[in-house]
Amino acid sequence: MSKSKDYYELLGVAKTATKEEIKKAYKKLAMQYHPDRAPEDKKKEYEEKFKDISEAASVLGDDKKRQHYDQFGNASFNGGGAGAGYSGFDYSDIMSQFRSGMFGDFEDIFDHLFSGSNGRRSTHGQRGDDLLTEVEITLEEAASGATKTFTLNKLERCEECNGRGARSFEHCHHCKGTGSLKRTQRTPFGLFQQTSPCPECRGTGEISTDSCKACHGEGVIRRKKEIEVTIPPGAEEGTRLRIRNEGGAGAQNGPPGDLYVHVHLRPHKYFVRKMNDLLLTVPISFTQAVLGDEIEVPTLEGKATLKIPPGTQSETVFKMTDKGLPSLHDHERGDQLVKVKIQVPQKLTKKQKELILQLNEEKASKSFLERIFG
Ligand SMILES: [Zn+2]
Ligand SMILES: [Zn+2]
Repeated sequence: MSKSKDYYELLGVAKTATKEEIKKAYKKLAMQYHPDRAPEDKKKEYEEKFKDISEAASVLGDDKKRQHYDQFGNASFNGGGAGAGYSGFDYSDIMSQFRSGMFGDFEDIFDHLFSGSNGRRSTHGQRGDDLLTEVEITLEEAASGATKTFTLNKLERCEECNGRGARSFEHCHHCKGTGSLKRTQRTPFGLFQQTSPCPECRGTGEISTDSCKACHGEGVIRRKKEIEVTIPPGAEEGTRLRIRNEGGAGAQNGPPGDLYVHVHLRPHKYFVRKMNDLLLTVPISFTQAVLGDEIEVPTLEGKATLKIPPGTQSETVFKMTDKGLPSLHDHERGDQLVKVKIQVPQKLTKKQKELILQLNEEKASKSFLERIFG
């Protein structure tokens, strides 16, 4: 039927056309060459054209078939042999269906052509389990990001049988090794042959003749695996990271699940985190508060200097801009908020006491000192 047709040319689309463009082009042509619309003298021509564009759409509308066609041309689709395991139109009956007036809604046919759901792979094995693990990080690690390594005891693909559960296989007799079974379906355009995965071999086309001893035929085996996880800067208490494909391996060569890592933040000796800000309380002496000073305070990046202006009240909060944590979500950075607490000396030397008493006699300072000493 199709010798060396160019499917792209038939539909009048570029080789780079998207699925949507192909669908649109086919729809337009299908309307135009609908056999019911053919003039009396052109019936045959219309039918041929319609068959051709439908065939082109059935291949180009399916990602896998299109890829195959791009690679090998349409020879691979001729004859409808079981070899490639592809399904296509069965045209043997389509024209009589047209004539009997079964033509109906185009959308049905589009769904058929463009669903792309008749692939074989999707039925292989089961997806592995998602796993959850917890990791504790320090505030410093939250600020700079970190790499954490831990060991998980999880299902891994069996290497003995390469995840197949067996070492020797024979062709499945049920589907003759194609992995799929053909099913004929009546549609407004005629009879379609639709392929579905063979239940006997689960779409693999082969049946095992032994069972892998290492994994007892499961294809998976429980083993310790070291996992390295990158914690992004700005990670918070409760941050959940998803590491794709690091969950349990899937049985019968199914795809692996994902690993979720729940982040916990270890409490810090000095700092309290509030969103992306860091809160810190530092003691200062009352003379520092009165006279002003420059003090050293810790930050996550090391020591920094903070200026205490003369006349600073206790509980005053100073902001050190951008000395907080980076944000997980944007480029903003938090601040470090330093609260100073004036410490009242509990023991005084004789000299200190004399000086304070002297100070106490100065009227301006009296109320201040009274407040401190009660
Ligand atoms: Zn089979
Ligand atoms: Zn095995």
